[in-house]
Amino acid sequence: MQNEYALIINGQAVAGANGTFDVLNPATEEVVAACPQASVEQLDQAVEAAQQAFKTWQHSSREERKDALNRIADRIEAAADELAEIIVKEQGKPLALAQVEVGGAVAWTRYTAELDIPVELIEDSDSKRIELHRKPIGVVGSITPWNWPLMIAVWHIMPALRAGNTVVAKPSGFTPLNTLKLVELINQELPAGVCNVVAGESGIGSAMSNHGGISKIVFTGSTPTGQRIMRSAADNLKRLTLELGGNDAGIVLPDADVEAIAEGIFQTAFLNMGQTCAALKRLYVHDSLYDELCDKLAAIAQAQTVGNGLNEGVTFGPVQNREQFDLVRELVDDARANGGRVLSGGEPLNGKGYFYPPTIVADVSDGVRLVDEEQFGPALPVTRYSDVDDAIARANACEVGLGGSVWSCDLTRAQQVASQLECGTAWINGHAEVLPYAPFGGCKMSGFGVEFGLEGLLEYTVPQVININK
Ligand code: NAD
Repeated sequence: MQNEYALIINGQAVAGANGTFDVLNPATEEVVAACPQASVEQLDQAVEAAQQAFKTWQHSSREERKDALNRIADRIEAAADELAEIIVKEQGKPLALAQVEVGGAVAWTRYTAELDIPVELIEDSDSKRIELHRKPIGVVGSITPWNWPLMIAVWHIMPALRAGNTVVAKPSGFTPLNTLKLVELINQELPAGVCNVVAGESGIGSAMSNHGGISKIVFTGSTPTGQRIMRSAADNLKRLTLELGGNDAGIVLPDADVEAIAEGIFQTAFLNMGQTCAALKRLYVHDSLYDELCDKLAAIAQAQTVGNGLNEGVTFGPVQNREQFDLVRELVDDARANGGRVLSGGEPLNGKGYFYPPTIVADVSDGVRLVDEEQFGPALPVTRYSDVDDAIARANACEVGLGGSVWSCDLTRAQQVASQLECGTAWINGHAEVLPYAPFGGCKMSGFGVEFGLEGLLEYTVPQVININK
């Protein structure tokens, strides 16, 4: 694996003016690599380069951008093994899942390349022609979290470029290396300055959110950070897409087939060790199925092989960082102290690494922290209900609203319930599935704006009406 990483500013690989910081492997707590730490002056240089590049890139043709994105996808594909290994080492997920992440990055890049932004004809009469055009915004700042670092960087950067913007990206300090590599690959196909990357936690993120040269921020991360960004974005009225935290509820209806749904519930609750924004985070199960489903989930959890994601046979990796690991432990201990019955896991593994096994906690209800707060980790609270309307009310009694799900054999009834959930996506007999062509975003405190599909692409544009008097 490459050990030297660089920032990319105006097409040049540069060292961090503030030295380096260590990126840790969550499976071993050993240093993966030293990451360059940018200064605020380097951020300014990156923004300046992006502003200069925007003057030309905004006028590039549809074909030019499409071809560039497809060539970038080729490069990501060619570097897939290296990228997947970097992801496992700095993020912790098992290698097979890291390969899925790289595959997703390629698929999203290719899909975004093919999207077109239509000119809408509003009026075409004898006297008048009115057209609605969509123009790029300018410099887009991308700020990403540590859970799906490569995929989320691609979700931000590719539509920004496709729409004709230029980019300054800032990855999470926990998982910056894959994004530095990604932007290096992108720069092999784009003019200097179109896509830049800075890294470091020394105030770079907040400097981006109040930077006068950045016209839009696309942010994926926690709700409190999203709120901070929104406050400081006011000075130059930055456009914002905020993909924030969630506490997704799943409701299992009385007619569900436990045998058929248990694996799906487990996989979507524990996807990426539960560190997925739209993972199933609270499960409401009807009385009549409660014990059977709890037993099944516990059996699936106990069958996982927990370990270093690079080791053969491992299905479950570590939590990404110490803070998150401590939070999961705290929430499970609190649930246990409040009557929760731990059916699997419930204690960290001894030794090095932030290993916390998949944990199913039964007999907890609303009012307990594990149910009320986003755990963002490998612990699922399973709550009992007897009245469906009550379950819907409890699912909605929450400040955030990213996703939700209903599990049932009766699709009509399931859809009636799903439509009452206050969330951006409601799945039926599934959860956490994102697709390049289906708009995805949250409501309430989970943020606003969507990603993916044409609607997602339009978030990287501003409308301009051309009003022609003939
Ligand atoms: P975080 O908010 O701590 O950090 C996210 C990014 O913001 C990092 O790059 C960080 O350096 C940067 N940052 C920190 N302070 C900043 C500031 N003041 N101004 C600007 N940037 C700043 O989130 P995290 O812990 O990395 O990620 C976990 C959270 O992200 C969870 O709540 C999860 O639900 C959410 N998430 C949401 C989605 C979604 O699509 N809605 C996807 C993934 C994760």
